[in-house]
Formats: sequence, structure tokens, C-alpha cells
Amino acid sequence: MRNTVHVRPRPRPEIMAIDVYVPGKSRVAGVANAHKLSSNESALGPSPKAVEAFLRSAGELSLYPDGSAVALREAIGHRFGLETSRVICGNGSDELLALLAHAFLQPGDEGLYSEYGFLEYPISIRAAGGVPVAANEIDRTANVDAMLERISARTKIVYLANPNNPTGTYLPFSELKRLQAGLPLDSLFVIDAAYAEYVAQNDYAAGIELASTCENVVMTRTFSKIHGLASLRLGWAYAPEPIIDAVNRIRGPFNINGPALAAGVASLADSAHIERSLDHNRRWLPWLCEAIRDLGIGVTPSVTNFLLLDFDESGTTARKADAFLSSRGFILRAMSAYGLPNCLRMTVGDEGANTSVVAALTEFMSDRNG
Ligand SMILES: *Cc1c(COP(=O)(O)O)cnc(C)c1O
Repeated sequence: MRNTVHVRPRPRPEIMAIDVYVPGKSRVAGVANAHKLSSNESALGPSPKAVEAFLRSAGELSLYPDGSAVALREAIGHRFGLETSRVICGNGSDELLALLAHAFLQPGDEGLYSEYGFLEYPISIRAAGGVPVAANEIDRTANVDAMLERISARTKIVYLANPNNPTGTYLPFSELKRLQAGLPLDSLFVIDAAYAEYVAQNDYAAGIELASTCENVVMTRTFSKIHGLASLRLGWAYAPEPIIDAVNRIRGPFNINGPALAAGVASLADSAHIERSLDHNRRWLPWLCEAIRDLGIGVTPSVTNFLLLDFDESGTTARKADAFLSSRGFILRAMSAYGLPNCLRMTVGDEGANTSVVAALTEFMSDRNG
């Protein structure tokens, strides 16, 4: 025997401290055609032009895609008025969020995010050997003072989803600027604007201006939400060139597949479809919010395409509501992993899903009260 101790390959210890990200459920046993309201996907789906482009690209599956994503980066630059050299595409914005941590954190460095911030942030920070630090929120909203208080000499990355998932709340641009102004110059500020398109508030800005003018600011965006292309895994970031350069060195050389490149370009060109999706959301988000509040369920004010529902403190009612809705074919997202066991998150669905999920919730609440 070579060895008395059991030797096998072992991952870095910080990897084993990561809780695996649990995606929203896609199906429930015994229910056909469930309404999936668990992952904030687009109610209207992708642009038909994006689907056509995707299908056309099937003729080129044997060829490597353009590893520099030139056509897509140019389309993004054109659409948003950005320098193409400062745009980078990712296999979902998730990939970019993770690569930024890998590129800018050393073991033991701290990564800051807000209390109910997107769970990918602590995962990315830990995966890069960093230490996740969460700043308290007020009213389920990121708090700039609390974030600035948690800054230390070791803080090398700060993630803020604006608007945030799973809360649906946002910070006005003035607060983003105040946060940036308070950060050390060597802390990278990542503004994750996955839901930017949905926000109509005048005091909101996605972060293009900050990423254009500050050496330490990156804005990330996605095709997974308003563009309805979540399955293709496509996101992008706008950042100063030295940051783009660093991420380009560690990303996969062909991280975006050809069908995604083609569909992304076509989707950006179909602004009428994006408008339709926005109109749909502008109609149904307030309708759902009001109808659900009328049932005595708390709803956090949202500027996105989803709502955070609050049941009583114990978490028992949220669990029962989740089970009841599942049995009726409505898949919502349980929030225990976010430290919100009394909450469920619900995506704005199509008309049929919205009216029928409210009917099901009405039945659930009257059974409880009656
Ligand atoms: C959905 C979402 C994303 C997008 O992730 P992709 O990898 O681009 O699909 C990013 N950040 C937040 C906060 C999200 O909710």
C-alpha cells in the first residue's frame, strides 16, 4: 500500500464553502404545461426575428463562432452609443460577473454586496478566493451608507444589482454616483443592470455614464430578461479598456456560440418587440401588485418584471402557498436561500398566467382565512 491516508484530488477549501446555486424550478410532477414564473424570463418570449436568425445559424454549426463577437459588439455599440472596444460579451452576464471576480480578487480580498443582493455575487467572490461581505439593506433596498461603512482596505470588488433581484427595488443614479465616489480607487464597482430596460423612473440610469467616465466601473447587461433569450446564455459588459483587456485574457476564446451571436444581433434590431414586452410589463406589473395586495399579501414595490411576495413571518404560509400554487401548475421561486423564507418571488407572466395565478392565490388565501 502506497499510503495510509486516503489521498484524492481535493478542490480548494473555499470552493467547498460555496452553496450551489439552485435555479428556479422548471416543472412540477404531475402537472403538464405549468406556468413557469420562477426565473424572471420574458412573458412574451424572444423577437421572432431573433428566432429566425437562430434557425438560420443552424447551417453553420460545424464552424467556430467569431471569438471576438465583433458583429454583436458593434450592434450593441450602435444601439447604446458605446465604443465597441469597451464592450465585452459573456456566456450570460453570469459569466462576466464571475470572470470579474477572478480577474480582480486575490485570495483573502473582500467582495462587497448588499444583504438581499443577487446570490451569484457571493458565489463568484468565494470562487475567486475572496471573502464575501454583505451590507444591510433598508426597506429591502441597497443602502449606500451601509455599503460604504463595510468598505475596508481589502475591498477589491463591489457588486450592486440595480434594480436588484430578488427584491425588485432600485437606487436612483444620484446614489450610485455617491457610492462610486466613496469607493477606494482600486475597488472595482460592478453595476449589474440586468433589468435596466424595465425601469421607467426618471431618476434611474443603468450606469453607462459611470462606466464611461470612471476607471473602476463596469456595467453588465443581459439578453436573458427583456430580450427573452435566457436559454442562449448571452450577456455583455461596458467597461474601461484595461478591465476589458483583463477579462479577455481569462475568458474562453469562443465563449459565445454562433446561434447566440446571430440571435443577439437580430434582437437588438427589433425595437418594436422590446416595446411590446415593455408595454406588457407596464400593464401587468401594477395589476398584479394591486390584486395581490388586495388579498392581504405584502408586495415589495418593484420596477422590474417580477414581484416579491411577503407572507407571515414564520415562513409557514409562504411554504404552503408555494405547495398550493405548484399543485395548480404555477411555479414560483422560494426565497430561503436569500434569507427570506417568508417570501416567494413571482415573474410577470402572460395574461393567462397572471389572471389565473391571482385566482389561485385568492383561493389559497380564502381557504386559510375561511
Ligand atoms: C437574471 C439576472 C442576470 C442575468 O444573468 P444571465 O447570466 O445573463 O442570464 C444577472 N443579474 C441579475 C441580478 C439577474 O437577475
